[in-house]
Amino acid sequence: VPYSGDAVPLPEKSLIAEVRCAVSTRGSSIIRGIGDDCAVLRLRPDQDTLVTTDFTLEGIHFRRDWHPPESVGHRCLTRGLSDIAAMGGEPITAFLSLALPRDLPQTWVRRFTHGLLKLAHEHGVTLAGGDTAQSPGGILADIVVLGTVRRGKAILRSGARAGDRIFVSGELGGSAAALTAMRSGKKSNSLQYRRHFYPEARLQLACILRERNLASAMIDTSDGLSTDLGHICEESNVGAEIEPALIPHARVGKPAEDVSLDFALHGGEDYELLFTARPGKRIPPEIAGVRITQIGRVTRGRGIVLVDAKGRKRQLRARGWEHFRP
Ligand SMILES: [Mg+2]
Repeated sequence: VPYSGDAVPLPEKSLIAEVRCAVSTRGSSIIRGIGDDCAVLRLRPDQDTLVTTDFTLEGIHFRRDWHPPESVGHRCLTRGLSDIAAMGGEPITAFLSLALPRDLPQTWVRRFTHGLLKLAHEHGVTLAGGDTAQSPGGILADIVVLGTVRRGKAILRSGARAGDRIFVSGELGGSAAALTAMRSGKKSNSLQYRRHFYPEARLQLACILRERNLASAMIDTSDGLSTDLGHICEESNVGAEIEPALIPHARVGKPAEDVSLDFALHGGEDYELLFTARPGKRIPPEIAGVRITQIGRVTRGRGIVLVDAKGRKRQLRARGWEHFRP
């Protein structure tokens, strides 16, 4: 992708592609570099190390008047844990870098840290370091999570083949629905929108998928189904057909109702697992207490196609989250 020469950064995807082109991993211990949920490093002969890093930025990923500090801390770590899950790995340790505005009350930081460390403890993850700085603007947090997986067993985005079936865990669109409710001024709380405020990385499910060799490719739904499935398709050089009627919609609000198809297709931050499986593999309808739903199949084509009940097809554009999009 040529540099446009403008001051505005390239769309996120092009920006990453540009950096990726400039990097060579040949002769290094990097088994998988840019282009997956985690980097895969071979530092030991018997196991691979997974590394992921994720920003949590005030005004982009959370708002101080919408999100309790405990929720911000919880979601910050979940972003990293979910990337480890997306590789079929197990998390070990985390590093947290925080840039904080000078006038931020210490209670905010304490409550944020409490939310983050409580979740870390639940998963046996130890915070091993990080950095702190004064922020010129809002709160900026960067989480690095290290994990492990048996040598060569990391589940990559690039493993899908035409004929594979496509599955998703849990329900989609709940997190986006919470944001929309808050944007429209509705009072939302973590009881109604738990998946948004306190999402759960699907680590146990991921572990079982890897142990039983069930998934050929996998990603977590952090940006939205249309965008995340697009990543699997691009890395695997395949296309996909999705049946909208099969997509498990989240039920939110009071009284609870199904979120719209748009939220289920494009809403991000659900942190479910989206994976493909070879034709012969039997995938149970529930794994580790989480519902698993087949939503389509991998095709030889390009791009993602929606197929309705009558067999009519239309192209699905990726409309999930992408930074710097004009
Ligand atoms: Mg991810």
